[in-house]
Amino acid sequence: MSGPAPPPPPPPPPPQAHTRSPSHFTYPLQTFQSTTDPITYVVHTSYNPASPPPLPGPSSEWTRFVCISDTHTQTFDVPDGDVLIHAGDLTGTGRKEQMAITGDWLIGMRHPVKIVIAGNHDLPLHDSWYEIPDNKRRFHGKRIENSAEVRDILTNNHAKAAGIIYLQDESYTFRVKEGGKEWSVYGSPWQPYFGNWAFNYRSGEAQALVANIPEVDILITHGPPRGILDLTIDHSRAGCPALLRHLGRMANPPRLHVFGHIHEARGALVHQWDPNPNLDPQAAVSTVDREGWKETIMVNAANQPAGAHRMSNQMRVPFGGPGFQPIIVDLLDKP
Ligand SMILES: [Zn+2]
Repeated sequence: MSGPAPPPPPPPPPPQAHTRSPSHFTYPLQTFQSTTDPITYVVHTSYNPASPPPLPGPSSEWTRFVCISDTHTQTFDVPDGDVLIHAGDLTGTGRKEQMAITGDWLIGMRHPVKIVIAGNHDLPLHDSWYEIPDNKRRFHGKRIENSAEVRDILTNNHAKAAGIIYLQDESYTFRVKEGGKEWSVYGSPWQPYFGNWAFNYRSGEAQALVANIPEVDILITHGPPRGILDLTIDHSRAGCPALLRHLGRMANPPRLHVFGHIHEARGALVHQWDPNPNLDPQAAVSTVDREGWKETIMVNAANQPAGAHRMSNQMRVPFGGPGFQPIIVDLLDKP
């Protein structure tokens, strides 16, 4: 039996947009603050990006740190503040054109101070590792980058004039207000070995590297300390035990420690340091207030959606979107 050809099937529906602008999402307010009187910090992990929460007190007494990480060449709106902190993985693989995109984005932000470190993806910034032919060829084939040119994007006079400070295992001090508090910061791009990326250390090398970290107000490392916002999607702890031990032994651990690397563990908490060094350091993670214990605000600032919160209402969350927004940390300018 033959007849007219059947009508063609209807065209498939147009593909669903995979991303929506952040205004299409809802942003429940998620905030915590110190239990002291007066308060000394406020942390915002979720907020309306169109109207970020105000400082908790006068700007003469408070400093706003805006924390981002793992932006991997993507750009998005970042709230204003006094200090921008980028905890590494500025790019996909550290190509010069990728770093130029990130550099232009950072330069365009209005924060007077922008402290930036590298991560395992910013390959040419780890000069001695990138010089090894197998390493650079594995990621960049025949088109090899020049480490100095890639770094120059973050360190040239144009970047400096825009407030960018690139730290690679070094300290820096700065003021954001005339006559205001001087803040000390240390930045380090390293993380425990996995698959021979840039700035990977073996466990035997960890102690020597973390021993360089001095007592500062603000610590920035690409990788987390072991047990703190470091749980991977396959339920392993990817943070560095030597880093946790080193910080736990400090008389004055940092007030704020910003890292990234484990995208799916993005978030913030307050870690209380057990004064008894014999105790298992992981047992010290707690929200219970312990009188007199030193505290560090821990921020995993990863902005690339990963893990359980990658989707929202069937829609792919964009970089910096709900669950992966820049984390705002307001600190009282106490000594
Ligand atoms: Zn990353």
